[in-house]
Amino acid sequence: MSLTATPEAVTSAAFTGEQREYLDGFIAALARRPFVGQTAGGQLTADPAGASANLAAAPVEETVFGTPLSELAKPERWKYEENPLDIWDKLLAHAEADKFPDEADTFRFKFFGLFHVAPTQDSFMLRLRIPAGQLTGAQLRGLAALAEEHGGGYAHVTTRANLQIREFRPRSICAVLTGVQDLGLTSRGAGADNIRNITATPTSGFDREELIDVRPFAHGLHHYILNQRDLFGLPRKFNVAFDSGGSISAASATNDLCFAACRLSQAITASGPDGSSEPIPAGIYFRVQLGGITGHGDFARDSGWLIRPDQAVAVAAAMIRVFSENGDRTNRKKARLKYLLEKWGPEKFLAETAHKLAFVPLRVPIEKCDSRLPVSKHGWLGVHPQRQAGLSYVGIGLPAGRLSAAQMRGLASLAERYGRGELRLTVWQNLLIPHVPEASVPALRQELRVLDFNLEDSPAAGGIVACTGNRGCKYASTDTKAHAVTLAETLQDRLAGLSCPVNIHFTGCPHSCAQHYCGDIGLLGAKLADGTEGYHVVVGGGMDHEEGIARELFKSVRADDVPSLVEKILTRYQELADEGESFVHWARRHEVNRLKEVLT
Ligand code: SF4
Repeated sequence: MSLTATPEAVTSAAFTGEQREYLDGFIAALARRPFVGQTAGGQLTADPAGASANLAAAPVEETVFGTPLSELAKPERWKYEENPLDIWDKLLAHAEADKFPDEADTFRFKFFGLFHVAPTQDSFMLRLRIPAGQLTGAQLRGLAALAEEHGGGYAHVTTRANLQIREFRPRSICAVLTGVQDLGLTSRGAGADNIRNITATPTSGFDREELIDVRPFAHGLHHYILNQRDLFGLPRKFNVAFDSGGSISAASATNDLCFAACRLSQAITASGPDGSSEPIPAGIYFRVQLGGITGHGDFARDSGWLIRPDQAVAVAAAMIRVFSENGDRTNRKKARLKYLLEKWGPEKFLAETAHKLAFVPLRVPIEKCDSRLPVSKHGWLGVHPQRQAGLSYVGIGLPAGRLSAAQMRGLASLAERYGRGELRLTVWQNLLIPHVPEASVPALRQELRVLDFNLEDSPAAGGIVACTGNRGCKYASTDTKAHAVTLAETLQDRLAGLSCPVNIHFTGCPHSCAQHYCGDIGLLGAKLADGTEGYHVVVGGGMDHEEGIARELFKSVRADDVPSLVEKILTRYQELADEGESFVHWARRHEVNRLKEVLT
């Protein structure tokens, strides 16, 4: 049979008379079928002439919290295409094949705290979650074993009072993850667009000045997050801190959300959002602070809310949900809470939060609360009496936050033998051993020296912190940790007599993980024109009672020149400052040009 291309040929030659009769009937029935259309106003009509468009059938683009898929930022697409919480099988497959993930899965693996840190190291880093920075000697010993068996044999204490173990192959990822869980720890949600380690005043529970032990709230929020899938996959990362009001802070105003303990000395009447008024008894409460992100030049600000401590976890969860549902998912640079607060104004954010709460948060002007006691700068170092009579906590400086496996085991053992087997990590990248009987302090001090720790860090060297830097972070322009250690060695002896403690923050890129803008002296890593490593130098930043963003003093200083420059800045401060004047006060009361003059 030959094929034909014309319809006429088909109709005339291909159908029998019976078939033609059937087709004629079928077409006539179609013509009688009632058609329903839709007018431009969306009403249904039987009059085809009045139909405009079938709006009900118009394709609607899927959205993520109102953002069309086509507008999502790339990581948001990855999260939409495969929920990173559901990739356990993929982790097993990568471990089995000893294979590094592709770009999208590199992002997803961070939901498990796993960071493929190429090209700086072709290996994984695991970031943990250690709420309130509190861990046991057994846990630290176990982490030392994991670091030694699978990784580089060391760990870093981070600026979120957390630990990272580094340099392990893909084949070890599941062994490390399950090993961490066997120790009663987790890394779930420690990276990517999730709520980071919940921090708290590191002396909570034994601080002589504290208003309230904030550990239960940090742990409470930690566990709530871990058990709520919708609190993962936020528009960007989110930091939460609890400040006890004690002698050391939690660097609280650097967080997206902070609960700052305060004392209300006298009963007052407060107003609710509906205009009602309510008597509030004197007592200890939390003030809620919002929107800190010092890398973008902002500290958290008081929201006006005063809440009971037992309401804190609920308020945190409600605020995080409001952020998750309304934060910017199109532009990663504008995806932090600060930008939602700027877009909406804090009042709308608070109103949306209040809708999610079964209780009415109260508004109390901050002036009604007692002022926070000044923090003890460098109170995280050395020997300090506790609230419990006869006991002390011992703060140990760790150069740039690095701990060898042997030191981890040694510290675990010392905490068990001299304390109660507990340790605390701080956002200053050091570590405390609490509950040490006063009579045991000299022996502990002696044993710490054997482990290469020094309890007598100078006021110039004791407050040096450094982000990971270019040995472990692809964003870094400089080897921050090595430069920090070199600076500490320089200042330790040469400026041992500095009259006031200073904080010096090294950060390798504008992400500002080490918060260079809040250091007395801040160093922001930069590649210099000749390809060498260097820093932009800022001065006069501070936190807590010294809160302020540092100003740029010098640009593009060679890394090799940083120790001598910092020494010169601090020496000139000593020579020129008024009696008892702090460095930050001295730096702030001069114009930048005047500071430059006195340094040349
Ligand atoms: Fe990496 Fe930049 Fe953070 Fe340093 S500040 S750890 S370089 S992202």
